[in-house]
Amino acid sequence: MKYCPQCGQLLRRIEIGGKRRDTCMDGHCGFVHWNNPVPVVGGIVEWNDQVVLVRNVGWPATWYGLVTGFLEAGEMPEEAIVREVKEEIGLDATLHSFIGMYEFYRKNQLLICYHLTVDSGDVRFPPDEIADFKWVPLETVQPWSAGTGHALRDWLRTRGIERELRDFTDANN
Ligand SMILES: [Zn+2]
Repeated sequence: MKYCPQCGQLLRRIEIGGKRRDTCMDGHCGFVHWNNPVPVVGGIVEWNDQVVLVRNVGWPATWYGLVTGFLEAGEMPEEAIVREVKEEIGLDATLHSFIGMYEFYRKNQLLICYHLTVDSGDVRFPPDEIADFKWVPLETVQPWSAGTGHALRDWLRTRGIERELRDFTDANN
């Protein structure tokens, strides 16, 4: 961010509260870009002892991850993940449990992860968002050492399955 979104003045990086932050130099405006992390919901969607992994548009051909998405205004994370599962893969799912919160500092996000099971529906996805999907058996699914991969590892543990985290690019291929 280079210009103030409130008044259009140039922002300068100055120290506030112990950190350097982009700050508006207009004395009447006072805008500070706090750069707070953004909450993102993630879902482990289970059906028939398999979990669905998706490849987002723009990802390399070997990358697959959990269904994820942003909250809408006025929405709780539990609602958001059920909606995202419907929107991203076309499935009606029931939310079962909260798995945990995980850091994704690289993208300045806080991941809030849940376990869901499929009630009904056929997989179909919006091609502008999702490039591909696959069902992976619990016997072979491999958690990855970034973001939502930690949630997958922790959830597998609740099923008595202990798996090491693998590099994201090597997992699930
Ligand atoms: Zn300003």
